[in-house]
Amino acid sequence: MESKKVALVTGASRGIGKAIAIELAKNNVDIVVNYNKDEKEAVAVVEEIKKIGVDSIAIKADVSSFDECAAMMEVIKSKFGHLNILVNNAGALSDKTLKNMTKEQWNIVVDINLNGTFNVTKNALSLMRDGGRIVNISSIVGISGNFGQTNYAASKAGIIGFTKSLAKELGKRRITVNAVAPGFIETQMTRNISFIRKKIMLAMIPLGRAGMPEDVANLVAFLASDKASYITGEVICVDG
Ligand code: NAP
Repeated sequence: MESKKVALVTGASRGIGKAIAIELAKNNVDIVVNYNKDEKEAVAVVEEIKKIGVDSIAIKADVSSFDECAAMMEVIKSKFGHLNILVNNAGALSDKTLKNMTKEQWNIVVDINLNGTFNVTKNALSLMRDGGRIVNISSIVGISGNFGQTNYAASKAGIIGFTKSLAKELGKRRITVNAVAPGFIETQMTRNISFIRKKIMLAMIPLGRAGMPEDVANLVAFLASDKASYITGEVICVDG
């Protein structure tokens, strides 16, 4: 009999990652909740997932650290033995125009978003079962660019190139690799956008509302399912 599916969702302590973790759990998948700082939030997500009826653990690992990602995989190996689904969701921003951006602001965003995707995926590969699913969370900003976000846009565009290349490498193992590019989604990340800027952004969205984390989670759950077995190397926007 096929063993139960196991998913690792990075940055799953809140926001989009939390919604993805819960949606996958509803599809009967055991969930590893990765987080970096907020243990309390991560443990609460694990409790919520367990109530759905699947197994779950929280693992602290900074995705920008290759060694911490390697150590996280050891914990997953001893607890579950394998992975079927990897969602690279952990992300951060530090906005400034390039003129005012420090080297630290550039590095931290690229380290978490782009190098983090490499660190996690590279270490997860040997645990991934053939026929598995990798979903990388990019952003529409990685496609269109955005004022004050050269670091964020470059990291999210990098994720798209990474996704398309890895899809070509892993096809022979029937592992699909896709990117999801959310638009403006209501989370802690977007909480501090000014009222005026939010109004302008909303005016440009045909559906007239910001997205919810669940809007992204529904697509990720589909891409992670058996139903999406012939979709790979794609970038799909969830931007209303
Ligand atoms: P969020 O609410 O700020 O959540 C970010 C998550 O990432 C948290 O769980 C956080 O956990 C974790 N995280 C941050 N740095 C980490 C690190 N170094 N190692 C491990 N985990 C880390 O943001 P969100 O809006 O849900 O964003 C999730 C993803 O969607 C990000 O990749 C973001 O770029 C992307 N996205 C968001 C939007 C949007 O409008 N919200 C749009 C497009 C794309 P800790 O606090 O515990 O570290």
